[in-house]
Amino acid sequence: MNRRSFLKSIAGFSIAAAGAQLALPVSAKCQMVAPFTELVGKTFLDQRIEEGIAKLKRENPFLKIGETHCHSVFSDGTYSVDKILARSARIGLDFIVITEHVQPYKFPLEHTLASIRERSRCCREWSHPDLKPIDVYPGFEVSTQQGHLILVMDTDYLKLNKLRELNTQFSLFDKKMISMEDCAKMARPFGGVSIIAHPERKRTAYPFGVSIPFARQYLTGLVDAIEDISTGHSFEENYSEELGMASIGSSDDHFNLIIGTTVTGYDSRKHKNLLSAIRAHETQAIKVNDSLDDLLGMARLVL
Ligand SMILES: [Zn+2]
Ligand SMILES: [Zn+2]
Repeated sequence: MNRRSFLKSIAGFSIAAAGAQLALPVSAKCQMVAPFTELVGKTFLDQRIEEGIAKLKRENPFLKIGETHCHSVFSDGTYSVDKILARSARIGLDFIVITEHVQPYKFPLEHTLASIRERSRCCREWSHPDLKPIDVYPGFEVSTQQGHLILVMDTDYLKLNKLRELNTQFSLFDKKMISMEDCAKMARPFGGVSIIAHPERKRTAYPFGVSIPFARQYLTGLVDAIEDISTGHSFEENYSEELGMASIGSSDDHFNLIIGTTVTGYDSRKHKNLLSAIRAHETQAIKVNDSLDDLLGMARLVL
């Protein structure tokens, strides 16, 4: 497919995206809060997050930390992939997984593949000379019959010639929701892992966060990891220990604002990458800075 850039101007922001010309969904809510999040992020949060991460790394020099759950304009996020990668690198993260939604008749797989293509381009053509490039993993968030499940693949699947394999394997997600058990199994042929997103969180209209009793009965040994701490969904639990899964901390950021407030860490002396640490159940969910709670509470009022 030809790659070309297109510019879309929404609410005063220029959003550049490479790939096919896609009608990307940007909700009215996103347009409304974008100026607010820009202000809050730049004025209040970024410096505190940066300081928290720097302290964490000083105290744990072998710890690799990163974000495993966030969204760009390729699904329902407000910011471009490039801006998300640049900010994540600036605040000191080592890796990031952008997890666009994939849902039948709402968020097509094509948009996720375009997002992965864009992540790959941003890494190849890194345009922030003052920042060390961040490690990027291909991944996405699938709507299953029981709730959202994140799949993260081997970095090999950032290569353009490998995207076709993802398309072949996952195109059924455009037509129907499958069970979380079946979905979890599908990551493995791609060297991938699965992560339960926002467990126990409910939405009335559709399956959102799988229940812990269901996970205990059907998903242990099948799903690799579970979110224990989430900034975006305001919870701090220890589900991973009970279920025998890897522990994940993340933000589910849609506004390039709270990435870095809760992270997942692993010991780089023991594991060569995030996937290896998740498979061994040797990751750690880490809240970066408790003092951010007041500010985040304020931010949540409008998010
Ligand atoms: Zn979700
Ligand atoms: Zn999400």
